[in-house]
Amino acid sequence: MGLGVGWAEAWIRHGADVLAEHRLELIILDRDIGDGDHGENMDRGFQAVLIRLDDLPPEANPGDVFKLVATTLISTVGGAAGPLYGTAFLKGALAVAGASTLDGAALVALLTAARDGIVLRGKAESGDKTMVDAWTPAVDAAAAAAADGADETAILHAAAAAAEGGAVATEPLVARKGRASYLGERSAGHRDPGAQSSALLLRAAADAAARG
Ligand code: ADP
Ligand code: MG
Repeated sequence: MGLGVGWAEAWIRHGADVLAEHRLELIILDRDIGDGDHGENMDRGFQAVLIRLDDLPPEANPGDVFKLVATTLISTVGGAAGPLYGTAFLKGALAVAGASTLDGAALVALLTAARDGIVLRGKAESGDKTMVDAWTPAVDAAAAAAADGADETAILHAAAAAAEGGAVATEPLVARKGRASYLGERSAGHRDPGAQSSALLLRAAADAAARG
């Protein structure tokens, strides 16, 4: 069993569609506490990923998909989110390099490496009101589900639900990293756009697994 390249590609294709659908929502969130470009950045980056996915060789594995996502996001997405998501997908790709299918432990390793990449790159801690506040609960929930013997789809559902909760929980926080931190106390009362896009992407991963 395990999730293979079909899942990895379906995740990213579905994620691109979801980010396109939520483009305006992410723009508005970023307009409230940033410069209003997050929806545009993510949509542009993932549309570029879609084009490059068509050239993926037939023998590709999930790590190859994530590496393609990483290099494309790093080269096409400006702002903070491009390098942060790029590093997440690059570290995730390295964590599962060469594997043709990913079991629960591999999924936890993938998500953990992605989160660690974001932290390495952005130096944000939990509670700083960034995408880390979606990723860390997701990693913890995935690890707990895997320890309980959940299957791959259930592990991803647990991660997505925790990321959604983490994104909502950024609302009362005062931003301490990124552009939103310039607002100080005035950043409270708004959801962090990067935490929201992270939750959308992790939900897309779970939905792609559920569709098989
Ligand atoms: P920019 O802030 O350059 O306009 P985006 O609007 O695309 O870039 O992305 C903003 C998001 O990036 C924020 O909502 C936050 O989640 C995330 N972010 C910004 N700085 C950091 C950081 N140092 N660590 C983690 N995430 C960060
Ligand atoms: Mg922005």
